[in-house]
Amino acid sequence: MDDLVFAAPAVVVVPVAGGGLFPVRRVFCVGRNYAAHAREMGGDPDREPPFFFCKPADAVVTGGEVRYPPATPNLHHEMELVVAIGHGGADVPASEALGLVFGYAAGIDLTRRDLQDEAKATRRPWDMSKGFDQSGPVGEIAPVAKVGHPAAGRIFLKVNGEVRQDGDLADQIWAVPEVIAALSRLVRLQAGDLIFTGTPDGVGPLGKGDLAEGHIEGVGKLRVTII
Ligand code: MN
Repeated sequence: MDDLVFAAPAVVVVPVAGGGLFPVRRVFCVGRNYAAHAREMGGDPDREPPFFFCKPADAVVTGGEVRYPPATPNLHHEMELVVAIGHGGADVPASEALGLVFGYAAGIDLTRRDLQDEAKATRRPWDMSKGFDQSGPVGEIAPVAKVGHPAAGRIFLKVNGEVRQDGDLADQIWAVPEVIAALSRLVRLQAGDLIFTGTPDGVGPLGKGDLAEGHIEGVGKLRVTII
């Protein structure tokens, strides 16, 4: 494409365990998907349908160093299972949803909690609380061919060696097939899409110099240092 007025941005990629690079298309996130976290945020954990928000694709970083973002004194970690979509589809029934999945990764939905609280109170969008630069660290993607479809397993996050979040994938209000089915009724999912599937309870602040280490049993891990 010779007539681009400047160079197109590079495709954001996430390494795949065992080799290869997953090209990221879009990033979707489930807003509330563990009962104990829904309660700690002042919500009702009853099975109201899942809701979604987005981060830009280039908010994804693959661990390492993340700069403390501007415009907040209250950066929070949300440790999450990330679903990597390998095949597109719309109106996908839950019984067929896992056929869209390429693999799974550990991720952190970094959140400017103060801006999110303000957005909730003023009924404004969440974009600037959720979709800022480097707000989506993701670890290596474990392909389904290697790890299957983990429906249970410990998901935890340590900060400077201390466990801050500790849950189990089995405690998700909406399991991965249901999340994919619901999202596919709102948009046509495409290969390259990532879905952050919500966080267990124990969310809390991160500061400069903190080392966040996330681990999901049967999936993988992630290390992020805030600089
Ligand atoms: Mn989240």
